[in-house]
Amino acid sequence: MALRRGFKATARRLAVDVRSELGVDTFAPLDPYALAALYGIEVFTLDEPWLPSSAVAHFTGPAVDAFSGALVPVDTGCVIVENHTHDRTRRRSTVAHEMAHVLLEHDFGVLLTVGGSCRSDPTRTVQEQEATELAGELLLPCAAARTAAFRGWTDASVARYFRVSRRLARWRMNVTGARRIARRTRKRLPEPATRP
Ligand SMILES: [Zn+2]
Repeated sequence: MALRRGFKATARRLAVDVRSELGVDTFAPLDPYALAALYGIEVFTLDEPWLPSSAVAHFTGPAVDAFSGALVPVDTGCVIVENHTHDRTRRRSTVAHEMAHVLLEHDFGVLLTVGGSCRSDPTRTVQEQEATELAGELLLPCAAARTAAFRGWTDASVARYFRVSRRLARWRMNVTGARRIARRTRKRLPEPATRP
């Protein structure tokens, strides 16, 4: 299933708004925890005493990859529960993904993030794709990917600077066409004049 027409542009605009609300420049890493705080969404880890300990032992042990995060409804709204045993970049990506569901006002039961997207029924596929797209745009905006491409940055530099996984950096650099655009623009620029 493809993203609906115009969604990428919507995600770009939304991410621009969110960054300005947070006071974060386009070419700067975004802190998804600060974003959650801005929207009054509490982020909990699997350490919480109110979580069933058997489930926690499961998801921090044998099934550590099976649970990245969840958006859990509470009386007045929702909270995020994230797997704190994952590495930092993955945790940032999980929280950004759950926050994307919040920003897009997706209706949710409990959304469990497995790997890159939440485990949910097929009717939610579109919402999952939208959340993934918006999370990518939040963490590494299209415009920032283009700037990085113009500067000739590798995926590894992009990942380090924006504090994302190398996989996410590669995906964003490819999907935004950043390097292609940088190459094309460079070709169009006149060659520096050579003096006789
Ligand atoms: Zn999701």
